Amino acid sequence: MRRPVIAANWKMFKTTGEAQAFAEAFLPLVKDAQEVDVVLAPPATALSTLSRALEGSAVHLASQNVCAEEEGAFTGEIAPRMLTDLGCRYGIVGHSERRTLYGETDEQVAAKAAALLSHDVLPIVCVGETLEQRETGQTFAVVGVQLQESLAKIPPDRAAQVVVAYEPIWAIGTGKTATPEIAQEVHAMIRERLREQFGAAGDEMRIQYGGSVKPANAKVLMGQPDIDGALVGGASLDPESFSQIVHFEDGDAA
Ligand code: PEP
Repeated sequence: MRRPVIAANWKMFKTTGEAQAFAEAFLPLVKDAQEVDVVLAPPATALSTLSRALEGSAVHLASQNVCAEEEGAFTGEIAPRMLTDLGCRYGIVGHSERRTLYGETDEQVAAKAAALLSHDVLPIVCVGETLEQRETGQTFAVVGVQLQESLAKIPPDRAAQVVVAYEPIWAIGTGKTATPEIAQEVHAMIRERLREQFGAAGDEMRIQYGGSVKPANAKVLMGQPDIDGALVGGASLDPESFSQIVHFEDGDAA
């Protein structure tokens, strides 16, 4: 049985004070969530604040990015061991905003994922196609290449610790969610590729869906056989709405 993992990607939102206020409101709402891994990925500036706020809770901390280098002259970057130092359990790599706005390549994503894993930070590796790629029938080919290349440096004996996030770019922040059938179809393809690449570990790897997940659609998405959780942007900024997603509840808070 794969344990679902529900992660909040706050992107460039929330000051330290706002992160603290979120934690104070959110933690009591999810203290009974025993069956899922709950993860918060704040901006780097709020990692330290949240790290303290989450102490003693079951909620995990994540980074939104990382540098693949150990240390050195890399102005503005953050090394994996600095994330470990702050208590990060997970790290998002290859989010489509990093790929499209900052030109991040599969090769860089692969190096970042491997660097995280070597410091025992579990990578959440994002993949997904554009609307044009979907409409021209390239979804499987595009996602297949992203997967193969972004996971190329993962040691097979560690693969089960890697999370893949399938995030169709056309569904991110647009309010357009992939239907459960569309999402499951791609997740099943991803599962097959993971089995080909990593053998039995491919069945243990968790595959999140991301793209306008909200309380009203979380339950049906999470009910699909190969959807093992969600990566949530907009609807994760509000403690009430994100807690409803964590509980896979229907609602209208998003
Ligand atoms: C994301 O940024 O990873 C995301 C899925 O955003 P949203 O939930 O807002 O579509």
